Amino acid sequence: MSALAKEHQAINLSQGFPNFESDKKLIDFVTKAMQSGYNQYAPMPGNSELLRAIANKFELLYNTSYHPEDEITVTAGATQAIYTIISAFVKADDEVIIFTPAYDCYEPAITIHNGKTIPIQLHAPSYCIDWDIVKSKISAKTKMIIINTPHNPSGTVLTKTDLLKLQELTANTDIIVLSDEVYEHIIFDNESHQSICLFPELKKRSFITASFGKTFHNTGWKMGYCCAPKDLMIEFRKVHQFNVFSVNHPMQKGLADYLQEPSRYLELSGFYQEKRDLFLELIKDSRFDFIPAKGTYFQVLDFSKITKENDVKFAKRLTKEHKIAAIPLSVFNENKKDDSMLRFCFAKTDETLKQAAEILNKI
Ligand code: PMP
Ligand code: GLN
Repeated sequence: MSALAKEHQAINLSQGFPNFESDKKLIDFVTKAMQSGYNQYAPMPGNSELLRAIANKFELLYNTSYHPEDEITVTAGATQAIYTIISAFVKADDEVIIFTPAYDCYEPAITIHNGKTIPIQLHAPSYCIDWDIVKSKISAKTKMIIINTPHNPSGTVLTKTDLLKLQELTANTDIIVLSDEVYEHIIFDNESHQSICLFPELKKRSFITASFGKTFHNTGWKMGYCCAPKDLMIEFRKVHQFNVFSVNHPMQKGLADYLQEPSRYLELSGFYQEKRDLFLELIKDSRFDFIPAKGTYFQVLDFSKITKENDVKFAKRLTKEHKIAAIPLSVFNENKKDDSMLRFCFAKTDETLKQAAEILNKI
């Protein structure tokens, strides 16, 4: 959709990335790192200052500890962490439960390792999980469950009750939970992020994946990390060592310096809530229906009052004829091709959001 948006000079609210720059302070830290000798391989798990800074963040936010050297690994974005976790644990015929619509990198990684994806459908408008269905899908073959909160593409979040249910259903099993928390710092309306590390029985069997690109407005840097108890991290690193070994060192040093000030991530929810509220206020009288996103920088809009076209057709037409691009929700969903929802990214300047709203109000 980004390519189509470019071709038709459309406002691009499709792919998830900001159209504004990272804090100059962070760019300065990275530049300084490059100028002061951080230009050779980082240690395999990551630069020790960055590992320490990440561990400190877990202590500060969730009052829980991950050992910086043994339980945290810096990765080339969350995508590489997710692929590597799946590669390290999923073998032929293992089953992996995912919740659809789902972020697009889970299923292919499972398939390439000859695992079997077990999709559980989440339904509009709430997209909440029916735990009775999860219970019915868990079997001796279940190797892993992948959760994602705040959730791309729906913008929903898991509650404490959800996590307790997951804990109950997987108690006394070896099921690994991959908790994709790349939007942990983008959560609205005073809700608090339910990180899997807050649930000790789950933490023992879980990986958390995170993305600096989402948090510090630089998706093009492809920097992220994952954490897990030591026994799981040992297995992770057996793959990580050979599919990347270590990641961009000057950026690690720059990020380590930048993380010293917690307000730099703590203020992100407020920043994006203003953007969500602006966007929704501007389109409240349009023919699109919505439930405000609870987290992420995506807003799902229901277009069923406008057309009976399928979402892919409508998204393409919007881009070509109306010059605005969004992602059709069915692309996150192998089994549901009849969606009437589009995902709009509001990580954009207020100016861009105003221009976008002007178009959407005319449709
Ligand atoms: N998980 C989710 C839910 C995402 O939306 C994304 C996209 N940014 C990723 C993982 C991948 O993150 P990264 O860009 O750091 O690889
Ligand atoms: N995570 C972003 C999204 O959901 C984009 C990443 C990608 O294009 N692979 O749009």
